[in-house]
Amino acid sequence: MMRPLTDMQTEVLDRMRLLDEIEVDFADAIGAVLSRNVDAPDDLPGFENAAMDGFAVIAADTVNPPMDLTVVDDVAAGAVPSVALTKGTVARIMTGAPIPEGADAIVPVEATESAHANSVRIMEGASVGDHIRPAGGNVRAGARVFNAGLRMRSTHASVMASMGIRPLVRRRPVVAMMSTGDELVAPSTPTLVRGAIRDSNRTLMRGLLTDLGAEVRDYGIISDDERAFEAVLEDAVNGADAIVTSGGVSMGAYDIVKLALRDSGSVGFWKIAMQPGKPFGFGTVGDVPFFGLPGNPVSVFVSFEQFMRPALLAMMGADLLFRDRVEAILDDGADTNPDKTVFLRVATERDGDGRWHARESGGQSSNVLSALAFADALAVVPVGTGRVEPGGTVELEMIHWPEARSRREVLGDR
Ligand code: AMP
Ligand code: MG
Repeated sequence: MMRPLTDMQTEVLDRMRLLDEIEVDFADAIGAVLSRNVDAPDDLPGFENAAMDGFAVIAADTVNPPMDLTVVDDVAAGAVPSVALTKGTVARIMTGAPIPEGADAIVPVEATESAHANSVRIMEGASVGDHIRPAGGNVRAGARVFNAGLRMRSTHASVMASMGIRPLVRRRPVVAMMSTGDELVAPSTPTLVRGAIRDSNRTLMRGLLTDLGAEVRDYGIISDDERAFEAVLEDAVNGADAIVTSGGVSMGAYDIVKLALRDSGSVGFWKIAMQPGKPFGFGTVGDVPFFGLPGNPVSVFVSFEQFMRPALLAMMGADLLFRDRVEAILDDGADTNPDKTVFLRVATERDGDGRWHARESGGQSSNVLSALAFADALAVVPVGTGRVEPGGTVELEMIHWPEARSRREVLGDR
């Protein structure tokens, strides 16, 4: 019996515990998840200020231009106005500088002529409020700005910086990682003896983990020897928030991850109703969540996507755990196993009407790593579907959203 995908995902998420809360520097919060709601302590900006370089005026003085008005002050950004405006007077002002008392509009430099130290000619009339940024126009004092659970981008961290609130976030997970298999050799191995393959899974897993902001402890390649694996595991549980292995979780005689842990009582091994990624081991080793991913590289990726990525985000306290989906047309259709949720590796394109189209990016066997590299989405064919007709509809999980327009496309031949 195969276990439904969503059933396994539920168990994985139910077993995750939140990582500790820490206070970090603004820039270090990028990629981490806020652990508290953030309310604005003050108005931002804290004072009314000029949106343009020009002259602070009393709008009523500028009807029927041109007219010459008297310059009584010069307010640079960071300065404080020293004079209140009275009828017929203006203050030279720079972008970001506080508005002098009495002024109710800014006339931009471009709308003036023959400006001297004590006089300026106004060429265009102003209305009350023109080019003035109100206090609190960015954020209002007391307003909820961000909710706990937000994974911070640089834009969020910069808003925290503007408010002067040091971010409280959850610690980044430390993940112990290893690949298993007697056939594996280091990627730098120049020529392979027959039967050997280069270990590509650790490169893949490292990238996926670091994209999430995890700190990786790399245990390298472990041979298909139960004792060797147990020894490494014993070390790996110390200080790790999660352990991830590749290979050795299937039905083979040398599937040592399964052999070593299946009687532990704390790690289960399943056949998940998904393709790729059917074999999967999950549980805890000495309290540390353990993810036994399959060995086939594409299975590693899909299992990571469906189980481990949401799990790590949950540990980090994220509110949103799963990738966005978009609807697309599967141009060539597909014939898949109706008993499984099938994740096709597809390359995507948008047509002139803005509709997404997807085509298989290469062979769909779980060892065809190149097709994964050529893909920018997984097309999801749910259990019970089986066949998708050419031109039929599928949902895409966008696995990356890359730059897609060349210099020539955007700028032409310049
Ligand atoms: P296993 O589940 O250990 O039988 O592995 C399944 C398939 O994945 C085998 O063909 C392995 O050679 C391959 N494989 C396992 N580990 C890796 C790895 N680290 N890098 C590339 N391929 C791997
Ligand atoms: Mg193996």
